[in-house]
Amino acid sequence: MTTSDVINPATEEVLRTVEQTDESGVDDAVARATVAQRDWARRAPADRAAALRAFAAVVDAHVEDLAGLEVANSGHPIGNARWEAGHVRDVLQYYSATPERLSGKQIPVAGGLNVTFNEPLGVVGVITPWNFPMTIASWGFAPALAAGNAVLVKPAEWTPLTTIRLGELALDAGLPPDLFQVLPGKGSVVGERFVSHPDVRKIVFTGSTEVGTRVMAGAASQVKRVTLELGGKSANIVFDDCDLEKAAATAPYGVFDNAGQDCCARSRILVQRNVYDRFMELFETAVKGVVVGDPRDGGTEMGPLVSEAHRNSVAGFVGEDAPIVFQGSAPTGPGFWFPPTVLTPARDDRTVTEEIFGPVVTVLPFDDEADAIALANDTVYGLSGSIWTDNLSRALRVSRAVEAGNLSVNSHSSVRYNTPFGGFKQSGLGRELGPDAPLSFTETKNVFISVHPEKEVAH
Ligand code: NAD
Repeated sequence: MTTSDVINPATEEVLRTVEQTDESGVDDAVARATVAQRDWARRAPADRAAALRAFAAVVDAHVEDLAGLEVANSGHPIGNARWEAGHVRDVLQYYSATPERLSGKQIPVAGGLNVTFNEPLGVVGVITPWNFPMTIASWGFAPALAAGNAVLVKPAEWTPLTTIRLGELALDAGLPPDLFQVLPGKGSVVGERFVSHPDVRKIVFTGSTEVGTRVMAGAASQVKRVTLELGGKSANIVFDDCDLEKAAATAPYGVFDNAGQDCCARSRILVQRNVYDRFMELFETAVKGVVVGDPRDGGTEMGPLVSEAHRNSVAGFVGEDAPIVFQGSAPTGPGFWFPPTVLTPARDDRTVTEEIFGPVVTVLPFDDEADAIALANDTVYGLSGSIWTDNLSRALRVSRAVEAGNLSVNSHSSVRYNTPFGGFKQSGLGRELGPDAPLSFTETKNVFISVHPEKEVAH
């Protein structure tokens, strides 16, 4: 059995050593999950609903426990980590209503009764990234379980601890053994086996566009279902008619939240040229005010990057000749720290086109609405974005024109458990969260029942 050390990114200390699942471990888990799923799907809808509510209640009782683990494993500020643990509870609670509401349809046809059933797929494999380990896992496992499936989750190598804990809490809550299993291990081993195993009927993959492309190609050979949540390079568009003070004050949090390791990070700020200088003045004050430090401290707004390798990758975008206009602060000493950094590059620079996934933002001026829309859409990605304007017609025009799955006007919100989330273009395929997510873990089955005409009925 191979093992992997899990490192605290704020201290560089080894937190725990985790056993890595091998290919036969995956095969064994799939076999057990297949049996558990049949039993789960046969249970009364109200029983499945109650089991998910019990899971939510146990998560609620362990919010501090889960949040503390995420602070230690991922370096998330404690306030963020508490929100994330509470979000897992909310997602479970929301989808606990599903088993009793997956009602299918009765469709009027000639000659009989026609009904549709939303049948579970079977065993679902969820592959998660390291940036929001427990929340992203829950977006897959909660609706999948609710729709009657068994779920195997493979957490990212660097950040498996909260997901492992959720697996334990599911058992504490009384979920049937083997129905929900967490399999830590390598993407090239566990992840690839999820894709190649014929009894894993769907892959929910969140991660880089590069690996997501490979997952989709592998899944194609079995026509396996996929949901993909991939990279982003989202725009924060600031028009001259907005509340500029508010736009500038909030812009750092639209990109530097989770140290910029956020698929929805508004990492390209586009500012109308006639207010550019004033925006930059206000933005500088805001960036320098971001509190970067010990993630255990309740006042901390930004922690370290997740690993040394990732810090090196982020630093690779900010070379000696990088057009830095200003930077925030970062602690020195142990920990994978990187200060909030603001660049003003040319429109075609790689810092404008590639996902950096760290606390680095580019700011570009634009001339008018058409220029802003063209710039916002000049990317292979299309995940999220923000539009700052007090003109309602403009807000709606630009919202419709920007090619992205999640937009917010005069705010930077992206994720709510009760609204759909996902990307256009190379940011992904399918949607998670919201009322329809459970349907993506089902097959629609159509059944026609012939009804004899009255004359054939014996009297
Ligand atoms: P990654 O693609 O390197 O890894 C993601 C997961 O895939 C990990 O668990 C990894 O072990 C696994 N994996 C690696 N190789 C695999 C393979 N060959 N087959 C199957 N699985 C494999 O991504 P990351 O660095 O962990 O996460 C960062 C990326 O995730 C960023 O691009 C970010 O934008 C994206 N992301 C997207 C969303 C979204 O909802 N759209 C959310 C969070 C993160």
